[in-house]
Amino acid sequence: MTNFQVDESTLLSTLKELIAIESVNPSLVPSGKGEAEIAEYIGHRLEGIGLEVQYQQLRHNRKNVVAMMRGRESGGQSLMLNGHTDTVGIAGMETPALTATCKEGKVYGRGAFDMKGGLAAMICAAESLVKAKTRMKGDLTLAFVADEEYASLGTEELVKEYTASAAIVTEPTNLDIIVAHRGFAWASVDVSGKAAHGSRYDIGVDAIAKAGKFLVALEEMDIGFNALKPHRLLGRPSVHASLISGGTELSTYPEHCRIEVERRTLPTESKQDVEDELRRLLEGISATDNDFRAESKVFLYRSALEVPQNTNLVRILSQQTRIIIGKEPHLVGAGWWTDAALLNDAGIPTVLFGHSGEGAHAPTEYADFNSLVQMTKVLIGTAVSFCS
Ligand SMILES: [Zn+2]
Repeated sequence: MTNFQVDESTLLSTLKELIAIESVNPSLVPSGKGEAEIAEYIGHRLEGIGLEVQYQQLRHNRKNVVAMMRGRESGGQSLMLNGHTDTVGIAGMETPALTATCKEGKVYGRGAFDMKGGLAAMICAAESLVKAKTRMKGDLTLAFVADEEYASLGTEELVKEYTASAAIVTEPTNLDIIVAHRGFAWASVDVSGKAAHGSRYDIGVDAIAKAGKFLVALEEMDIGFNALKPHRLLGRPSVHASLISGGTELSTYPEHCRIEVERRTLPTESKQDVEDELRRLLEGISATDNDFRAESKVFLYRSALEVPQNTNLVRILSQQTRIIIGKEPHLVGAGWWTDAALLNDAGIPTVLFGHSGEGAHAPTEYADFNSLVQMTKVLIGTAVSFCS
């Protein structure tokens, strides 16, 4: 692996240029510019070194860009690197958001950590491979996707057209390997009452008070998860109420109350499991209260991720991290959800691996530059070893 060099000044200037291109997700902040400009920057750059570049047009001028380094044989083991180009908003940042600043080995700016560092590593890894005239057996695909911070339109579109034997999402992981994370379900619970004048206790049914019974049961359900055997990497599942609305005015019995809940799931739990669990909870309350009427609906479901630790990719990525930077990576789980689950659901075993730093979605955000260099080297080594 010694013949692969990472040009550190190019890596730094690439990260700075990526930060300078505002790519705030317009679904989060309506004035955000989205991903078209940054996709074109990346596309030109990778076309310039001879990669096959394609754009996937999403709605409202949102864009993915996918660059392919073709292998010398069709059917060889292929690897995909996947990173998202959108960021959260830049209001209220404590350092310049779009003009990267460097201090004590840290690069500050919006997206430095989440995740333009990872994008710069992907670009520079590809450049190093081309410079070294590497021709691997299998394809290396670099996917730069839109909208991870909101609804993951980018990776959803990506997996319709592209596949690989395995993938690495290059989100920051402190040079450890995330092999599992929890999923989530968002559900609504509509509780029905009976509208009546506020004086008519004889006919009115208070939907908000009835919803209270659901909330009490929901909290008990969450406490009950403590009794389950925890997942080795992910602990226990959880559930909580997120939003509540109901009622029309002070002097009327409310006819309706809506509660929206979030259920964080383990890899063993399906959408059907979450639906059944909520339905049973409501049936249990109905059994003790004739006036309790409610319906539940899971309106968004994202599955959890779990990749077996003995898969080829985990083995090679661990080995390369050990050989190239002398670190034994921890195989860890994360509480939060990522695009990796969409890739994994599409049949591409996927893990997360990236540099260190801090401040995702926070007023101060930075990437640790030394770990970014190390990450880039490990990506190169892993691509060569996996695709050969
Ligand atoms: Zn991210």
